[in-house]
Amino acid sequence: MNLSDFAQRCGYWPEKEEVVRARLDALGLLVTCRRCKGTGRYEQNPLDHTCYGCAGRGKKLPPLTARLAATIRLRVEGGALRPYFAELAILMQKVRDSRSDPPG
Ligand SMILES: [Zn+2]
Repeated sequence: MNLSDFAQRCGYWPEKEEVVRARLDALGLLVTCRRCKGTGRYEQNPLDHTCYGCAGRGKKLPPLTARLAATIRLRVEGGALRPYFAELAILMQKVRDSRSDPPG
């Protein structure tokens, strides 16, 4: 299933990989990268030792299945992402506050 279909089934999430990734992370559903074992570093990459299995993140998206989307939707409807959204609201407010601070 592609990201767009998956995001829609999760409850009309934004079709952006970073948003889906952040929400799956908040739900504890990202999977540890097997190549780097979650470190994000891969010594056999001679260029910069970044693990390209996970783009250096250490965690990867799980397989995007209809069953997973249905499970997520139920959990989200039950409030599983409330702490995530509360934290996001605080971060957004900090960004707004920093932009409205007078220079100097
Ligand atoms: Zn990795």
